[in-house]
Amino acid sequence: MAQEVLSIVVPCYNEEVVLAAFYDAITKIAEQISDKVTCEFLFIDDGSKDGTLSLIKEYAAKDERVHYIAFSRNFGKEAGIYAGLQNAIGDYVVVMDADLQHPPEYIPEMLQNIQSGEYDSVAMRRLDRKGEKRIKAWFSKQFYKLNQKISGVDIPEGATDYRMMRRTMVDAVLSLNEVNRFTKGIFTWVGFRTLWIPYHNVERPAGESKWSFWGLVKYSLNGIVAFSTVPLAIASVLGAICCVISLLMVLFYVLKTLIIGDPVAGFPTLITVILFLGGVQLLMIGILGQYLSKTYMEVKHRPMYIAREQKLENDKK
Ligand code: UDP
Ligand code: MG
Repeated sequence: MAQEVLSIVVPCYNEEVVLAAFYDAITKIAEQISDKVTCEFLFIDDGSKDGTLSLIKEYAAKDERVHYIAFSRNFGKEAGIYAGLQNAIGDYVVVMDADLQHPPEYIPEMLQNIQSGEYDSVAMRRLDRKGEKRIKAWFSKQFYKLNQKISGVDIPEGATDYRMMRRTMVDAVLSLNEVNRFTKGIFTWVGFRTLWIPYHNVERPAGESKWSFWGLVKYSLNGIVAFSTVPLAIASVLGAICCVISLLMVLFYVLKTLIIGDPVAGFPTLITVILFLGGVQLLMIGILGQYLSKTYMEVKHRPMYIAREQKLENDKK
């Protein structure tokens, strides 16, 4: 029987300064587990503007385990992960960052747990956020808490995208072919038996994070909208509350007028109520807009990525 294959999927965007170190580390790990699996390295170049793609091509020329897809522009990490899962040939697939923040040393342990048959996926969970800006860490934490409450997909705190899956799970993840991808949520949504391995955060040895603060805010909102319709229900709840309050107010003012007459007053109350209701309405329209825009993009059914060039195992056939 031929040996099983492990595909290592690596989305890369402007990673020329760390890629060599990563390739070095990953080939060493491949050596270590060579008695258990044959490795495929599948790099997804997400429209890098530096020398990332030429480095990848260099590796591909001398190492036939290296495959790649180069996007025509930057489509984002989620698209990179999708392209990788779609084109990986492995019986097992591991998704990991190129910046060594997902320590390759864990691959043998992940593989062992998956090959034992007990788990369908092994995922890594960060215990801390050492080296990260406090405010970023705090917001991330709040986001996962909120997301858990309103969307029902239970993403453990500190969950990363570093994950190994068996083929059945990969196919399940691919069967969710929505364009607005929130991969962390999708991994959880498809179910299967997952083992979480905790680890301590590793700082980037070189290069910098591609995530700006606003990028993360957008990512978080996207994650909530992708997995929950609870925000839409807020409008109905608030509407109901306002109705009850206004009924009570009507009663109060009618009785007040009947009992003590009608002194001219109430401008502050009036303006407060108008402003409050106006604000609530705009907020609710905004939420509607969020869902509408996502639905709009989804209905267009655009491809999740466009490849400019590629070298894949299946191309050879
Ligand atoms: N990445 C990508 N496309 C992007 C942004 C990032 O493929 O548009 C890749 C990046 O090269 C890295 C991984 O996604 O391999 C994680 O990115 P980064 O280290 O910037 O994120 P952080 O670790 O700060 O969350
Ligand atoms: Mg990183």
